Amino acid sequence: MLEAIVKHQIEKNGAIPLGQYIEIALSHPEHGYYMTRDPLGKRGDFTTAPEISQIFGELIGAWIIDIWAQMGKPALNLIECGPGRGTLMADIVRIIRNFGGVNNNITIHMIETSPALIEKQKQALKSINAQWHSHILSVPSDSPVLIVANEFLDALPVEQLRRADQGWMQKYIGIKDGALTESWQPAPHRLQTHLPPKTRSGKIYEISPVRSEYISNCADLIAKTGGAALFIDYGHAKTHHGDTVQAIKNHKYSDILKEIGHSDITSHVDFEAARNAASAQGLNISPIVTQGAFLNKLGGAIRCKALINAAKNKTQANDIQKGYQRVAHNDEMGDLFKVLCFYKGDLNPAGF
Ligand code: SAH
Repeated sequence: MLEAIVKHQIEKNGAIPLGQYIEIALSHPEHGYYMTRDPLGKRGDFTTAPEISQIFGELIGAWIIDIWAQMGKPALNLIECGPGRGTLMADIVRIIRNFGGVNNNITIHMIETSPALIEKQKQALKSINAQWHSHILSVPSDSPVLIVANEFLDALPVEQLRRADQGWMQKYIGIKDGALTESWQPAPHRLQTHLPPKTRSGKIYEISPVRSEYISNCADLIAKTGGAALFIDYGHAKTHHGDTVQAIKNHKYSDILKEIGHSDITSHVDFEAARNAASAQGLNISPIVTQGAFLNKLGGAIRCKALINAAKNKTQANDIQKGYQRVAHNDEMGDLFKVLCFYKGDLNPAGF
């Protein structure tokens, strides 16, 4: 269905940039990948840290309590971008509730575009008075904000640029012999500004104006109201060449040009570019750290031991151990995933 729509558009108006193709595949209002399904979990296409271990959300809850205390415990807008099934926010709320009435002072805002996932999030947060928005720009700027986002940036579209002898070329998706196919066209100057000038022919760089703009919108909000943002995702700490765009279906790699709208398309986050997008607002930025280092510094290993000691039986203890190992160990998600934090003023975010 979506394939026919995309092909029709290309036949009518010509090849489309890769970023536009990803945008349609994921977010077409009727047939986009995220719009129509819950993609998470064993029976879905992929799984994420909050779905794997409750410790992940609990530690972020503790991080929120700590920084909120440093801010002087003001009325707060707590925002999550791309909340999936709502599991992370539910774990956070369980923790912040334990801190004497905190949640009376905190308004929760969920930023989500998928009707299917909004339904899931409403179930996960049944007893909580939360508000839903389709974009960070519609959150009121009446109070300081704390923004959290896990595996959100990787779902935003990227463009690919390849160095050729005659200059930078941009990846487009067109049609050849009736099938969707990649092609390259000269890249507009505005996409080239952050690329290394002395690049060898053949190298591919990915840039994401959509991601940068989203981060910049978050930074603008924090510059206005005060507060902090925490973005966690897989990617590299420094800008690096390479083609990282991938499609995933049933926990396996698939072709981004096949079954459009039925597989998740993501790419590694360039945390150097993400950092640059936040620094334009004059905020403070923590060094980029790995997820494993961040979680352990917040006391993850200690929390894991406590949960194991309180486990009902050996199987449960094993599951807790395996889950934490998966999110924190360097051979699993611990090293590949990175954490970006930016904040206004004299705060000292934990975990860095
Ligand atoms: N944070 C969750 C889910 C990650 S999947 C977790 O860790 O489990 C990506 C999430 O981002 C989904 O909820 C998807 O619907 C949402 N999303 C994708 N593009 C979005 C956009 N432009 N605005 C808001 N949410 C978006």
